[in-house]
Amino acid sequence: MSHDPNCIFCKIVAGQVPSKKVYEDPELLVFHDIHPWAPVHVLVVPKQHLATHYDVQPEHEAMLGRMLALAPRLMKELGVVNGFRTLINTGPDGRQEVPHLHMHVMGGPRPWSKG
Ligand code: AMP
Ligand code: ZN
Repeated sequence: MSHDPNCIFCKIVAGQVPSKKVYEDPELLVFHDIHPWAPVHVLVVPKQHLATHYDVQPEHEAMLGRMLALAPRLMKELGVVNGFRTLINTGPDGRQEVPHLHMHVMGGPRPWSKG
């Protein structure tokens, strides 16, 4: 599985940097965003290092589907039952700050600090 030793999310996946873990399976890790915009804000992260959404290949389609399918289940488990937002930022114009593919999932009562 590809891994970038300088990548903060690879370090979280490897357990070298702590995170507030919500869910884990062999290919995905979900943890709370360190600067949440919403009362509940988690990041769904593939364990393998893919820098951006541009790097997704046909062999990643099932994993991307699993990322989307996981969101409502985790939101319900976290008590978010009135709706949520999913977001993938890609590249500089997409305002991606961490170059390891991830999906934001945000929910909980408004107002939120962004979005
Ligand atoms: P993006 O702009 O889509 O790349 O968002 C990156 C997100 O990662 C931001 O919302 C950050 O708050 C979050 N983040 C950065 N470092 C950490 C970390 N060590 N643990 C949890 N979330 C982080
Ligand atoms: Zn990485």
